Amino acid sequence: MPSIDNIPKAFEPKEAEKRIYSEWMEKGYFHAVPDNEKKPYTIVIPPPNITGQLHMGHALDNTIQDVLIRWRRMQGYSALWMPGTDHASIATEAKIVEAMAKEGITKDDIGREAFLERAWQWKEEYGGRIVEQLKRLGSSCDWERERFTLDEGLSKAVEEVFIRLYEKDLIYRGERIINWCPVCLTSISDAEVEYEEADGAFWHIRYPFENGTGGVVVATTRPETMLGDTAVAVNPGDDRYADLVGRNVVLPLTGRVIPVIADDYVDMDFGTGVVKITPAHDPNDFEIGLRHDLEILDVMTDDARMNNKTGKYAGMDRYAARKLIVSDLDEQGLLVKTEPHKHNVGQCYRCSTTVEPRVSLQWFVKMKPLAEPAIKAVREGETEFIPERFDKIYYNWMENIRDWCISRQLWWGHRIPAYYCHSCGKTIVASEMPDICPDCGSTRFSQDEGTLDTWFSSALWPFSTLGWPDKTDELDYFYPTSVLVTAYDIIFFWVARMIFSAIEHTGEVPFKSVFIHGIIRDEQGRKMSKSLNNGIDPLEIIETSGADALRYSLITGNSPGSDQRFLPMKVEAGRNFANKIWNAFRFFMMNAEGYEIPDEVAQKDLQPEDKWILTRMNDLIGEVTGNLERFELGVALAKLYNFIWEEYCDWYIEMVKSRLFDKSAPYRTEALYVLKYVLENAIKLLHPYMPFLTEELYSYLCEGKGSVMISIWPEVRKDYDFPDDVILVQTLMDATRKIRNIRSSMNVPPSRKVGAIIVSSDEQTLNTFRNGTAFVSRLANLDSIRIACNNEGIPDTAITEVIDKGELYIPLGDLIDIDKELERLKGEITRIDEEICRVENKLMNAEFTSKAPAKVVEKEQEKLRKFKEMKGSLTVRMELLSKV
Ligand SMILES: [Zn+2]
Ligand SMILES: [Zn+2]
Repeated sequence: MPSIDNIPKAFEPKEAEKRIYSEWMEKGYFHAVPDNEKKPYTIVIPPPNITGQLHMGHALDNTIQDVLIRWRRMQGYSALWMPGTDHASIATEAKIVEAMAKEGITKDDIGREAFLERAWQWKEEYGGRIVEQLKRLGSSCDWERERFTLDEGLSKAVEEVFIRLYEKDLIYRGERIINWCPVCLTSISDAEVEYEEADGAFWHIRYPFENGTGGVVVATTRPETMLGDTAVAVNPGDDRYADLVGRNVVLPLTGRVIPVIADDYVDMDFGTGVVKITPAHDPNDFEIGLRHDLEILDVMTDDARMNNKTGKYAGMDRYAARKLIVSDLDEQGLLVKTEPHKHNVGQCYRCSTTVEPRVSLQWFVKMKPLAEPAIKAVREGETEFIPERFDKIYYNWMENIRDWCISRQLWWGHRIPAYYCHSCGKTIVASEMPDICPDCGSTRFSQDEGTLDTWFSSALWPFSTLGWPDKTDELDYFYPTSVLVTAYDIIFFWVARMIFSAIEHTGEVPFKSVFIHGIIRDEQGRKMSKSLNNGIDPLEIIETSGADALRYSLITGNSPGSDQRFLPMKVEAGRNFANKIWNAFRFFMMNAEGYEIPDEVAQKDLQPEDKWILTRMNDLIGEVTGNLERFELGVALAKLYNFIWEEYCDWYIEMVKSRLFDKSAPYRTEALYVLKYVLENAIKLLHPYMPFLTEELYSYLCEGKGSVMISIWPEVRKDYDFPDDVILVQTLMDATRKIRNIRSSMNVPPSRKVGAIIVSSDEQTLNTFRNGTAFVSRLANLDSIRIACNNEGIPDTAITEVIDKGELYIPLGDLIDIDKELERLKGEITRIDEEICRVENKLMNAEFTSKAPAKVVEKEQEKLRKFKEMKGSLTVRMELLSKV
């Protein structure tokens, strides 16, 4: 073992963490390979966006994954943590466009190819930033295998999936209502729309009959879309309107004549029972339009202005047009009434602009056939959610799923592998541009301009990263993966899509467990957000307090599915914990200096306290391992903390000090052996949480044994099971604790020795204390312990405490100097008498009581009451002490 002189006084994360991480990298400890001697354990990282910066959510998510992977690696699994990043179409493209805007150029100015060149350049420059940040956290990802959703292999997987689904008729191209973002200028999927309640209105508008009289009244929250109405509809069972069906009405402001149709979809009880039908701007109206063969009339431009089919409104922003339309209707006497109305408005998840439901020619995935087996797999437990309650979100989303719009009007992403014949318009889906059109023989084609939704590629992540569609050894060995770790907010965005994609393409679920954690909130429990400016930068914490302290603060209090608050005092606690362990370790090294510590000692030479801590170590190994198996990371860490801090440092070390300080004391070797055995195992158990600190400790404590991260996870030693000694030591600890409490509650200075009396009618208990006299005396600072089977001769002024099967007493005279105390009490009573006299005089003075405000008088009366009370208790105490 190294000399204590070569061991630093404290652990300095700033210096140590970088050095240790590069050692791990150099030695290749993170690399996992298929190994049939071992069981596989696999986690795929939720790939962070290349535009991302490490935030607290990432820090938590990745710390959890690192804890799990380090633990399983130590347990002897071939543990693969597959890393990588996501190309994040919308976010990245927005960044490039923004940068170009500063140069005064647009996408169209430079064209697709030059734009992509810039995007790749940007990726090279900034895309690796988040990976470097994950390394600072200590993440033990297999970086040799790092993937990127746009890399060659993953692009191949995306193309393969697109072609397969198309050939199975599960992907189609068609005009459907999609969510259009007028700022991002692309379609977005249903899952990317966030709903927020907003104040709006219901405008009731009269559509007159052709002769200009009467008519029907419809209500709408988006009056600007009326310019695209191509019918009004009633329910076929609605007697009120039976004779209207088949007649026409005039669409106000346009003069267009539109029919009244009957459709079951219309709710008779809603509003007037007549609804306007705008097939180009509403998903339900679109369906009705298909059923009745109505014209689909889009009235907007891509940036949500009214288009050239809207007459005088052409060119106006949708909201400006809304205002003008309402006032024009009012002027013409066609606005029947305006009702205030709260409703949910869909917003783009990326830019928060209100999305416009709009008809558009896009590519879709047919969801029903894919959702069914994915629902079944979770119902049958092939994949389990932890905590279980989150399966409800999953079922709810999967059971109500609509076809998934996967095409995006962006350039940064996987280009849709579809080609259109210039002559006959035929669509050919293939991995390369076709040579010749099978229908017309033309040789001219153009590729679809769109790219695929980013989630289309991340849905394949668990198997595409392992080499799919190729049959690789990695795929064979590491797939299906063991667990996916994610926050609850992307269950449907991502988790659901991975499950149905995996089942469709690999025939297996992508992971056996989904461990859902909550989100990190600020100290006051608010979400961390840019607008509140309450985010905390994890890198700053790593810089000042080290990655271990950050990890400690994130896992402390973590429990599956629950949100947690980020409290700076937890980081502080992590630092203190590290110091405590470091000091305990140095204490051991100091005492072990120059001693050869054997690998084993004879059981007969172990003392009760040794047997107690060895048994407790066994308990801890069992419990921590069990907690990790149930994803109770926070509970496991709390147990480790309590064991190391209290049982090992505060108790065991104190218990063995007398054996250590006397170099010729019997059983000194045993004490050193146990100190080391327990510390070594505690370090191993703590390693997944605080990898840097434990690596440094292990390198000194177990010099020559290699890295702790590839050491073997502690196992319960069946021969270290001493229940009787545990009871004995815990009884003594309990008595010690109680004597200490009495001392501190009575302010007894440490220099003052006291005597204790243990009374019990239980022979076993009496024996325990007979054997433990020295132990309790030393730890509780006693000069004597008397052991008795009854309380004869114990003064009734003695302070007493109940212990297991007995009582303990400390004579009052031992705790305090009675004469001195009587003297002090006398003085105190005299002083209080003076105070009472003073206040009483004041209150008897009519000048004071009549002039002073009531509050001041009350205050004086309150004082008087308090002084009298104090005098009362001092007098009782004096009487008691006089009897001693
Ligand atoms: Zn947007
Ligand atoms: Zn053709």
